[in-house]
Amino acid sequence: MAQTKIVATIGPSSDNASTLREMVKNGLSAVRVNTAHIKEGYITKVRKMVDSVNSDMGSNIGIMIDLKGPELRTGTFEGGRFSVEEGDTYRLVSTGGSPGDILINYPSVFRSLQKGDEIVMSDGKVKFRVLEKGSNSAELLAGSSGDLRDRSRVNIPGRYLDLGVLTERDKDFLMEGVKNSIEFYALSFVQDKSNVIHLQKLLYDNGQNASIIAKIETKSGYDNIDSISSVSDYVMVARGDLGVEMPLEEVVLAQKTIINEAHKHGVPTIVATQMLESMVESSSPTRAEVADVTNAILDNADSVMLSEETAIGKHPADAVGYLSRIADYVEGVYRDFPEPEQFFGNRIAYSIARASKIIAREIKADAILAFTLTGNTARMISAVRPEIPIYAAVADSMVGRRLNLLRGVIPISMPEEFRKTSDLIEALAFIESGDYFRKGERIVITSGAPYFLFGGTNDVRVLTVGTFNGRGYPMGPSLQGVLTKKADGKGDIVLIGDRSWDREAVASRFKGIVFTIDISDQDKEYLSQQNKTVLFNTKIVKELEEGGTVTIDGGTGIINS
Ligand code: PGA
Ligand code: MN
Repeated sequence: MAQTKIVATIGPSSDNASTLREMVKNGLSAVRVNTAHIKEGYITKVRKMVDSVNSDMGSNIGIMIDLKGPELRTGTFEGGRFSVEEGDTYRLVSTGGSPGDILINYPSVFRSLQKGDEIVMSDGKVKFRVLEKGSNSAELLAGSSGDLRDRSRVNIPGRYLDLGVLTERDKDFLMEGVKNSIEFYALSFVQDKSNVIHLQKLLYDNGQNASIIAKIETKSGYDNIDSISSVSDYVMVARGDLGVEMPLEEVVLAQKTIINEAHKHGVPTIVATQMLESMVESSSPTRAEVADVTNAILDNADSVMLSEETAIGKHPADAVGYLSRIADYVEGVYRDFPEPEQFFGNRIAYSIARASKIIAREIKADAILAFTLTGNTARMISAVRPEIPIYAAVADSMVGRRLNLLRGVIPISMPEEFRKTSDLIEALAFIESGDYFRKGERIVITSGAPYFLFGGTNDVRVLTVGTFNGRGYPMGPSLQGVLTKKADGKGDIVLIGDRSWDREAVASRFKGIVFTIDISDQDKEYLSQQNKTVLFNTKIVKELEEGGTVTIDGGTGIINS
């Protein structure tokens, strides 16, 4: 499975259980609800649908509510349209006005607006320059021709606007979110860290334990990325508005800067908007879109996001499938990503996160398994970018879903009774009963000893999956196969405890030999020349079954079944 995570905006094309199931099968990690386009009750409906799909499929899909914040928009126009001619002048007003004037929905813009400012409307299609500014109107010169529609979007690139953080409508959706224990809240038009802290406090006051995603889509947000990252759980590169707030050609490099700055603090990122835009109609993406997704992954993003592709597009599940395929391929070729430069967290847990990656590399481990209470250790391990999957065993499925947008992290929810276990074997037995690991795989485990799900990571160890049967001195490669205890038995691996074994016969018949006795240097030489997997002087602590499948770890000398 791809390490890069996928968010899909849900809408008329995808807000039914069967499409959601298809998207999950194709690699979906979370859904986004864009509150710009919904009515009261929609969040509750999505919650029910997502919960039922999660319980059917064992998935960890969380819900992201995208709060729009105060968006600047024009008023309505006679006939629903208004044409702007390049070189003409227009009056911008917040109330009253006469035909031919352009209304704006926030009177307070006139406090921040300055002579010479650029004003952009309708997603960058129509541009103006401020010629004169009064206390409740401004004189604008059109720099381009084009049509405005009712409630067109208005941007004032580079100007810090104090319009508050949330609108009344946002607050209503937030409260519907609170009732539904929503995992993620995305905050639009974040300008500085105080905006994030404002939402944090609101969620805290309502007893919510949700992740906050700061959407970087204004020049001030971009300029303050460092301090915004330091207080956010996730950062989104919101290229739609960013491409209006700054010259379009600057957005691609801004994306790299935002990802790098956030990653410096160990903060995960989501790249959004127009990733596979042509798939709103078409059944496959353009080459340029595939290149864009590839580059977002190479830029070190944790997640990529779909908007209209899945909300109103014709091929929602296929769009998700394309993102997975691209991610799978790119990650298979390019695996080297930087670690955070300055991580402000628990030093012990962070050093263990780094150690887990080094150990995993050194011993070619198949996975890292992190027992994590708050999810913080999983976040740190993800941030150091190991090449293998990171399983996050959590005590609370909500925490699991909130971790599901971290690159490489696969949540595992442990049942209640494991919360206070200090018995690793017991905890692992539960995990092994799932489909996560195969026998013989090597995993690096981090935990907070003595209780695995109690936080305070302070421990790292290496285990081979399966029942521990014993250990010997190893020679040759790792091997898995059927074990026999008879020198003339059927199998790949033979168990020998008798000194009178026949060297040639055994070597010609078996790939692996487990001696519970010592063997001579000549025997070692002979067997190693034939590249046999050998354990000698093996101590068996749990009896091996005739005909059972066993794994010999050529590195540690452990024999497992
Ligand atoms: P939006 O945010 O889709 O809510 O506008 C994303 C963006 O601006 O890219
Ligand atoms: Mn936006």
